[in-house]
Amino acid sequence: MGQYTRRKFLSAGAAGATAIGFAPLLAACRESVGEVAAPYAVFKGGLVLSTWDFGMKSNEEAWRVLQAGGAALDMAEKGVNLCEADLSALSVGLGGLPDREGKTTLDACIMGPDGKAGSVMFLENIRHPASVARRVMEKTPHVQLVGEGAYQFAISEGFTHDDYKNPEAEKAYRQWLTESKYEPVINIENHDTIGLLAMDTRGDIAGACTTSGLAYKMRGRVGDSPIIGAGLYIDNEVGGATSTGLGEAVIRTCGSFLVVEMMRRGATPAEACEEAVRRVMKKHDNWREFQVGFLAVNKAGDTGAFALQEGFSYALHKEGKGELVRSNWLKN
Ligand code: ASP
Repeated sequence: MGQYTRRKFLSAGAAGATAIGFAPLLAACRESVGEVAAPYAVFKGGLVLSTWDFGMKSNEEAWRVLQAGGAALDMAEKGVNLCEADLSALSVGLGGLPDREGKTTLDACIMGPDGKAGSVMFLENIRHPASVARRVMEKTPHVQLVGEGAYQFAISEGFTHDDYKNPEAEKAYRQWLTESKYEPVINIENHDTIGLLAMDTRGDIAGACTTSGLAYKMRGRVGDSPIIGAGLYIDNEVGGATSTGLGEAVIRTCGSFLVVEMMRRGATPAEACEEAVRRVMKKHDNWREFQVGFLAVNKAGDTGAFALQEGFSYALHKEGKGELVRSNWLKN
């Protein structure tokens, strides 16, 4: 975030703040962020971070794309494509656990450094929903396409109909039918999303998020993952954030947008993620019963995460090497 941008942000904020009588708050904010150049240089070494253990391989793929000269948006798309293509995954792509009527439905979104975004929700029989989301962004005047319309658009764009059924997911569904109990379980694979944030060698940031959503969800249910500002948000002047966990809780708090806005006001990625998790906690009396995790990167290339419960991990690929990092969590 350069000097010009900060000034522009502050003066735009000044008009709004005066109008609603928040001048003292604005003055404090002005002092805390300062009308000076950003205190850090934009990181240009390239990096990738993504949710959960399956992010390790996706990060490697994104890193390959970077090394072949790809931009952040290509890194994000191709990185999550790798996870979508793994038909043994029970929470991403066509191998994912189905809804309560036995059908696997997919949600995905993508957002680029230019602020453009695309999303598909409740999509069936298409292997790469994140790539369809990218086409929505690039080839339509819209941001979101849903269900049958998203499917028809995908077919018209050359994606093929795919009837794949994961035997493991079918077995689990038959087992579930014996009780038909709907109960999201913390940190196990009846829900987990890949949210991936990529930074290229220009320092530009993009992200993608893709999932089969909560297992045995109601037909038509859409979570946070394809919703810009909830499951993913990028502001190339500030950074990017993505989430995993109980989508309803993330939507209610505009989670990823909140994380990016906290970073804009000076929070580190880890602090911003923690603040968003605390917001989720405050708004949900039953917060001990589910998981939510956020992941973020800022323009300096600092990364961080925070989760409601123990057990969230994320994959980080920076300076040519990949590692799995355990996220911090609320310990009270
Ligand atoms: N956030 C996803 C959803 O609610 C699921 C997950 O990440 O665990 O659909």
